[in-house]
Amino acid sequence: MMEMKSFKIVLGDITKVKTDAIVNAANTTLLGGGGVDGAIHRAAGPELLEECRKLNGCPTGEAKMTKGYRLPAKYVIHTPGPVWQGGGHHEAELLENSYQNSLRLAESKGLRTVAFPSISTGVYHFPLDAAARIAVRTICTFLETSDSVQEVWMVCFDERTKQAYEKAATEWKSIS
Ligand code: ADP
Repeated sequence: MMEMKSFKIVLGDITKVKTDAIVNAANTTLLGGGGVDGAIHRAAGPELLEECRKLNGCPTGEAKMTKGYRLPAKYVIHTPGPVWQGGGHHEAELLENSYQNSLRLAESKGLRTVAFPSISTGVYHFPLDAAARIAVRTICTFLETSDSVQEVWMVCFDERTKQAYEKAATEWKSIS
């Protein structure tokens, strides 16, 4: 059978991406912040913050969805990734949960295409290579059994991040 699902790693700005949903590396307040979170709120406009205020925050590793407002993407899936605290505070499991719960939410809403930023590897300081391995494993495993979600993009903001995800994807293909 022909495999129509795809996982793409691209260099770019996630606020410009026209997938059904983009994922926001949020914080637990869901009230905006720096990095990709700030960029998404700026591009979406103030209605996004208004809707986020009604959500009463989100625990680390869980995910909540809003509309995309002025973004090209129809929806935003907000997930707070873990803050890196040395690795002994369930950071790997929580990062996996962020990817998994975001994808489950997209699937439950019947979405077809989803774009992720590199969750937790900015100000949250999760080591990049380890984060990339967790992301690639979780996304590719999910795609094997998804019905609705057909296409997942990793949108990397810089070349170093893109290279880390490409390396993780090559490793994943060689072991799976
Ligand atoms: P976290 O708090 O989860 O670490 P950050 O926003 O600080 O989140 O960083 C996560 C990743 O998002 C980093 O690789 C950062 O370079 C990247 N990033 C920042 N702005 C954008 C953007 N507009 N599009 C895609 N990725 C972005």
